[in-house]
Amino acid sequence: MASADWGYNDKNGPDQWGKLYPIANGNNQSPIDIKSSDAKHDTSLKPISVSYNPSTAKEIVNVGHSFHVVFDDSSNQSVLKGGSLSDGYRLIQFHFHWGDLNDHGSEHTVDGVKYSAELHIVHWNSAKYSSAAEAISKADGIAIVGVLMKLGQANPNLQKVLDALNSVKTKGKRAPFTNFDPSVLLPSSLDYWTYFGSLTHPPLHESVTWFICKESISISAEQLAQLRSLLSSPEGESPVPVLHNHRPPQPLKGRTVKASF
Ligand SMILES: [Zn+2]
Repeated sequence: MASADWGYNDKNGPDQWGKLYPIANGNNQSPIDIKSSDAKHDTSLKPISVSYNPSTAKEIVNVGHSFHVVFDDSSNQSVLKGGSLSDGYRLIQFHFHWGDLNDHGSEHTVDGVKYSAELHIVHWNSAKYSSAAEAISKADGIAIVGVLMKLGQANPNLQKVLDALNSVKTKGKRAPFTNFDPSVLLPSSLDYWTYFGSLTHPPLHESVTWFICKESISISAEQLAQLRSLLSSPEGESPVPVLHNHRPPQPLKGRTVKASF
């Protein structure tokens, strides 16, 4: 398995990542199963708040195993604050994880319950570091807001993103994606669970303060099918759809999950 070749199939999937990325078996890996009765309410946790400038939305990129909606992060125009964070964290991208069937696909699970997909809105500590590339390996470098996506009604707020997938079907393709505020994707309540963990795919750095929203958002079967129509193959090769791209829950290894509510 070459480092560029990690993926989600039997040969290069999550069970194999540890061969090239030993931190895969580290003490702070993500995702996890959140056991709601074990999560301790912490009165010192502040609410999380986001302030996103839609003009920072830049482009949509097919990265092979998924797609990213990327933001201009050259200044503090779109930021996440609150929680246990001491500094403002700057928005860089959001992306999704999904499964080959509708009854699974989320990375985090709650009391063992799997959701159909999961949104990750990724931010980096711009008060302390000069770039996302520098922050991504630092313990206080990254903050991700995770939103569980439950099979149900079509979610109109997702449609602009899903429609843009047609312009980046194949690996390596990118297209402009402008004037978008990702806070429209958040649930009405920002009550959350928080814990310290990692990126959920290589290089799996243990650098992430996670905020998993208690409330889910909806996604329809048709919208899930649109996610699965993304291709991991480059243009001109036989098409290989990204049918699933989620890592299973990892051992908690003594970590505590705190609840804001
Ligand atoms: Zn993710």
